[in-house]
Amino acid sequence: MMPTISSMPSTQRWPSDSHFDVIVVGSGIGGLVTATQLASKGGRPLVLERYLIPGGSAGYFERDGYRFDVGASMIFGFGQQGTTNLLTRALAAVGQKLETIPDPVQVQYRLPHGLSVRVHRDYEQFLAELGDRFPHERQGIRRFYDTCWQVFNCLNSIELLSLEEPRYVARVFAQNPLACLGLARRLPANVGGLARRYLQDPELLRFIDMECYCWSVVPAAKTPLINAGMVFSDRHYGGVNYPQGGVGRIAEKLAQGLVDSGGYIQYQSRVKRIVTQQGRAIGVELATGEYYTANRIVSNATRWDTFNTLLDMPSPKREQHWQQRYTPAPSFLSLHLGVDAAVIPSDTDCHQIMLDNWDDLEAPNGTLFLSIPTLMDPGLAPPNRHILHAFTPSWMADWQGRSPSNYEHHKQQLANQLIQRLDKIFPGVAGAIDHCSIGTPRTHRRFLGRMNGTYGPMPQQQLRGLLGMPFNRTAVPGLYCVGDSTFPGQGLNAVAFSGFACAHRLSADLNL
Ligand SMILES: Cc1cc2nc3c(=O)[nH]c(=O)nc-3n(C[C@H](O)[C@H](O)[C@H](O)COP(=O)(O)OP(=O)(O)OC[C@H]3O[C@@H](n4cnc5c(N)ncnc54)[C@H](O)[C@@H]3O)c2cc1C
Repeated sequence: MMPTISSMPSTQRWPSDSHFDVIVVGSGIGGLVTATQLASKGGRPLVLERYLIPGGSAGYFERDGYRFDVGASMIFGFGQQGTTNLLTRALAAVGQKLETIPDPVQVQYRLPHGLSVRVHRDYEQFLAELGDRFPHERQGIRRFYDTCWQVFNCLNSIELLSLEEPRYVARVFAQNPLACLGLARRLPANVGGLARRYLQDPELLRFIDMECYCWSVVPAAKTPLINAGMVFSDRHYGGVNYPQGGVGRIAEKLAQGLVDSGGYIQYQSRVKRIVTQQGRAIGVELATGEYYTANRIVSNATRWDTFNTLLDMPSPKREQHWQQRYTPAPSFLSLHLGVDAAVIPSDTDCHQIMLDNWDDLEAPNGTLFLSIPTLMDPGLAPPNRHILHAFTPSWMADWQGRSPSNYEHHKQQLANQLIQRLDKIFPGVAGAIDHCSIGTPRTHRRFLGRMNGTYGPMPQQQLRGLLGMPFNRTAVPGLYCVGDSTFPGQGLNAVAFSGFACAHRLSADLNL
């Protein structure tokens, strides 16, 4: 999936030495937010990215006149008020801004037994629609989602920075003790407990499972309440907003802002090794043999890649324990289709989630996610065409040990099954395709540098909410992690949070 390099940062003046304040391995949104925050505070970070363009899972590629988002396309964090609009804030910190298009519906669910629910941007409209499907649960539904609002209101009233910085924690507590206590109380909670407190209908509880699964990749019992408070409320507050020009614009703008603010970014620079000296991270070695040093090293690769592959010393015990508690979520089988616009009715919602059988919620080829970003921004496709990005969970194990021809055959077979599912919703779509790119877990591993193409960590069993997620500092002095395998987890706004927190802790450590 080769992108065309259309908007790289303006020419940067390379420093005369090869020592930096901070080296960030990877230019995912987590890495870029860390670096831009540091640069905006006067630091001198270097971002090293193995690929041709920035963004990782929030990147893009272009084919046949289509501009496809690699992964993310339901974007939170572009609100204009409060403190949870972290993408707006991250861009503004380095003098950047993006035009966004508000999505009136976060997602349309098409679930078993004809359960069809649209999550409207307007909270009351959503509650009314869900309540119409479960009239006997109207009161419980309101109580459940109102409790999520309480969590969100606490989050949205404090500056979201590093919980590893005691002076910040003390200051925020002094400024807003009730919000902090509210959050502390909910930190160990999962959504399942709250749902069962207010709701009884088994199908409605399944619906709440799907509400969680579609971003946490685990059902409600394993999904931290803090994250749900954010997602279930911010969609009605800041809303879901699509960046004009595609999701890849976010990373491009951050990279530009980084360079404008005195930071550095270098592409096609795969870090082969994080180098330690007497147990302390001091530099990185690239696949080309180049060697850079820094006062601090930040890894935006997953924790599995960081500690099992990149670090030149044995993985610390703390990381081994983490890997026992959290397991890598599956990757995806992704179809990037270009289709004749005539087969997509104009009132279709941009994001759809489909499931035929509740027992298949977590199964490979069970839940089908669909994004049609050209409904928001038609400029991503040639005239009278739409982009359909359909993806479903898929494990690496299903793709290993196959001969090239068998791999191609399997890919095509599963892609055809997905297209048949799409055809039931958009009759004629199977015959209206003029472009089809298929990505498997192997594609995700190759292009995103993520172990087995994983979407990120998921709890092995029911854990105590977010308490088990590690922060940015690691057991290796001088080494930090940022991105979706650190607190608070997956999603663009979540990894932006992780980036703010990481830069905050680094600034304190480096006296920036
Ligand atoms: C199919 C799919 C759909 C999604 N949909 C949504 C959505 O709708 N909304 C949402 O908010 N989130 C969504 N997500 C999740 C979201 O995209 C991720 O959680 C987030 O982008 C992860 O960001 P990150 O900073 O942790 O790292 P990544 O995006 O993984 O970026 C890490 C970067 O590091 C680079 N790298 C890795 N190793 C090295 C190395 N050794 N040397 C140099 N560079 C290296 C990689 O090339 C990559 O650019 C989706 C993800 C996928 C896969």
